[in-house]
Amino acid sequence: MKYVYLFGDGKADGTAEMKNLLGGKGANLAEMNLLGIPVPPGFTITTEVCTHYYENNCEFPDVLLLQIEKAISQTEKIMNAKFGDIENPLLMSVRSGARKSMPGMMETVLNIGLTSKTIPGLIKKTNNPRFVYDAYRRLIMMYADVVMEKANSSELDNNLGIRHKLESLLTKYKKENGYKNDTDLNEHDWKVLSENFKKTIKTNLGSEFPDDPMEQLLGGVRAVFQSWNGERAINYRRIENIPDEWGTAVSVQTMVFGNMGSNSATGVAFTRNPANGENKFFGEWLTNAQGEDVVAGLRTPNPLNEDTKTEDTQNLPSLESSMPDIYKKLSNIRLQLENHYSDMQDIEFTIQEGKLWMLQTRVGKRTGAASIKMAVDMKNEGMIDKKVALSRVKPEQLDELLHPMLDVVSEKKATLLAKGLPAGPGGACGRLVFTADDAESWHNKGEKVILIREETSPEDVHGMHASEAILTAKGGMTSHAALVARGWGKCCIVGCSDLQIDLNKKEVEINNYLLKEGDWVTMNGTKGYLYDKKIDLVPADPDNHFEYKILMKWADEFRKLKIRTNAESPSDAAQAIKFGAEGIGLCRTEHMFFDEKRIIAMRKMILADNDNDKRSAIMELLPFQKEDFKGILRAMEGKPVTIRLLDPPLHEFITLDSHQVNELSNKLNIDKNIIKKRISALHELNPMLGHRGCRLGIVFPDITEMQARAILDATLELVKEGVSVLPEIMIPLVGTVTEYIDQAKIIKNTANQIEKENGVKLNYLIGTMIELTRACLTANEIAEHAQFFSFGTNDLTQTTYGFSRDDIGSFLPDYLERKILSHDPFQSIDIKGVGRLVSMAVKESREINPKLKIGICGEHGGDPTSIKFCKENGLNYVSCSPFRVPIARLAAAQSEL
Ligand code: PEP
Ligand code: MG
Repeated sequence: MKYVYLFGDGKADGTAEMKNLLGGKGANLAEMNLLGIPVPPGFTITTEVCTHYYENNCEFPDVLLLQIEKAISQTEKIMNAKFGDIENPLLMSVRSGARKSMPGMMETVLNIGLTSKTIPGLIKKTNNPRFVYDAYRRLIMMYADVVMEKANSSELDNNLGIRHKLESLLTKYKKENGYKNDTDLNEHDWKVLSENFKKTIKTNLGSEFPDDPMEQLLGGVRAVFQSWNGERAINYRRIENIPDEWGTAVSVQTMVFGNMGSNSATGVAFTRNPANGENKFFGEWLTNAQGEDVVAGLRTPNPLNEDTKTEDTQNLPSLESSMPDIYKKLSNIRLQLENHYSDMQDIEFTIQEGKLWMLQTRVGKRTGAASIKMAVDMKNEGMIDKKVALSRVKPEQLDELLHPMLDVVSEKKATLLAKGLPAGPGGACGRLVFTADDAESWHNKGEKVILIREETSPEDVHGMHASEAILTAKGGMTSHAALVARGWGKCCIVGCSDLQIDLNKKEVEINNYLLKEGDWVTMNGTKGYLYDKKIDLVPADPDNHFEYKILMKWADEFRKLKIRTNAESPSDAAQAIKFGAEGIGLCRTEHMFFDEKRIIAMRKMILADNDNDKRSAIMELLPFQKEDFKGILRAMEGKPVTIRLLDPPLHEFITLDSHQVNELSNKLNIDKNIIKKRISALHELNPMLGHRGCRLGIVFPDITEMQARAILDATLELVKEGVSVLPEIMIPLVGTVTEYIDQAKIIKNTANQIEKENGVKLNYLIGTMIELTRACLTANEIAEHAQFFSFGTNDLTQTTYGFSRDDIGSFLPDYLERKILSHDPFQSIDIKGVGRLVSMAVKESREINPKLKIGICGEHGGDPTSIKFCKENGLNYVSCSPFRVPIARLAAAQSEL
């Protein structure tokens, strides 16, 4: 079995294709060799060794040592030096490399091979004793930390660890000798410190720092394997969904030094700018330094070239001007690598005494804006085709263009107060207010506010609208606050259970930290993070993003799914059309009832004690509703508009305190005790499973009739004006075909009547939401009668799991943490459970009614994974909030690639 793959001198056993076996680093080191790029020679120990190691009680395979020895001798030949030789020693580094890069998550050991025997030889060879002892103490520090300590104990408090102890020794030594920087220490100092370090290691860890090169090397390899199962790596894998069984490879490579004097240097670079995507070589470098010095930020790095200098770096020397020949070579390698990999590369290089060496290349991470620009530019440069360009941008990355975001640098410095569920993306800062009315009045005075609530209800909508962002202690990803905020593209965090809100005092305690009304806070709604004080924001400006528009155009060429939006006002509809919506998939009518004039009619209806009064109160709403529908149908001219009949339980329209009860009693001339009695009669133990959805229209058919008439009257008037309209009337929360038939009959009768009265034929559809388990199980029966289905996956998830969509925040974090759930099922569809119901319903209903139009309007309609699922299951469209329309367009295109 081959466990070790060589690379060096323009040859390699492996290629870039072999990432599974050699890890990303090992595969790319092999590939760079094959491209003729100068890479320090060495070898890669495969991921199979890691798997073997864990399957065999942390033992290496028997033949490994022999294969390593052979590989070392090959490397020695290329370098003309020998590992462990007393005159001409070769030093090695040991680095990790998983299939997918896990930056900083696993261990590295440098300068392996320095021992009491090889030190004199290296001093002679380099004529630089200070360099040698500095390298030696670095090896001791790294080795003690990574190999002798961390590899042997999993949970360790870094402040008590050996690294901390050795660093304290160094700090103390510097203080005692009046040194400020590490560069002030001379050969003697490092020598003394190295001896002290070794003694401290013996005392603290109970064993000697090894003085044998092979022992050092095998220890390093073992430590890398151990770090695959370190806490950091495990957590990272969990977040990035990297399987535990992949394992890591280990690359052992000849050391090259960027700290051998003024003609040595080291740096990191990106083949294009990773922040804005500009096609400019971009990076940082330092003379006389090791790689870790650039990353650690102890010295300010210099800019790579003149072109990318900023105000801050204009007086620093660029590599281009300091070492022009080397820069030219590096620039050529940049182009060679980018052309070869057809993607932006993140590279590391070292210059040792005037010779350039490449240490690593990998696909570079980038911001959303940069990824869009690079994808479009690279297609236009002929480097990639449209399909590849479309696949290069993660749909969620578009959020960065569509919403203001927090400035990354300022966010890093900010104080994190709490975490919640990321319900509405983007960043926002404002002063805390505790009620919707305060939000509105502060906003009217020109203040930027953030509304903080236990949870929100439709009565808070005016204050939510006036706020920069919304923060709630309770609720899940489909709670009221989340839905409303997302609809407006507003930043929102829900289910932030660390908030202890005192509404009377207008203050909130967060993990022993007290904030009062008017205090500034900042929110990162993309991550669900709440910060203290104000943080700089980067504004959104998609209209001026040239490449974004091109990418969207390409997405539309490829996608087959139609994209609609969930909107209930003409302005939201207009916004959605700007983002590319092709119709409305869900217009929730209940929000239209909260206006002052309408709510009174609604309350009159609820309080009426006979059918006549009830009907006349309901009919008072007709002219308002007609105007609402006219507005939205007109805004969507020529595009289908799905309007859902009234859905929420009636008590939501009449939640009143005693003062409001008195007011209503005076207004309607009804005894306040009767009002109170009626309110308490409406009380339900499980309102989400109570008298709501089509159950309202069945008990109060006048509501259905009034809404149907309002929609169809609006249609008629617009048609007369010459406006083309396509209304689709949707019955909510149907669980039995009989419910559907009952409600559809009322709508049809109303339509027939209007058609007869006016001598016209109206163009409209009747359909239903599929949002209950029983509706999925009997979808074939319903499909015989309905013209369209729209999956309401918010309620479908709620009823399938039996998880309350408004209360999931109280236990979801524990469920995720303990991997009981892999993700929030209200955010991304649960393919195994809810998805199975959807698939079955689609299949069985289309067998009965092949033309049935089917869409989705739950929050999953804007989630890329769920969109892929919808496409695979033959849905015609997805519907999502306006700000998610571009994300859905791109995700729908990617589902076709
Ligand atoms: C749903 O249940 O998925 C849905 C879209 O309806 P609502 O969120 O209004 O209950
Ligand atoms: Mg619903």
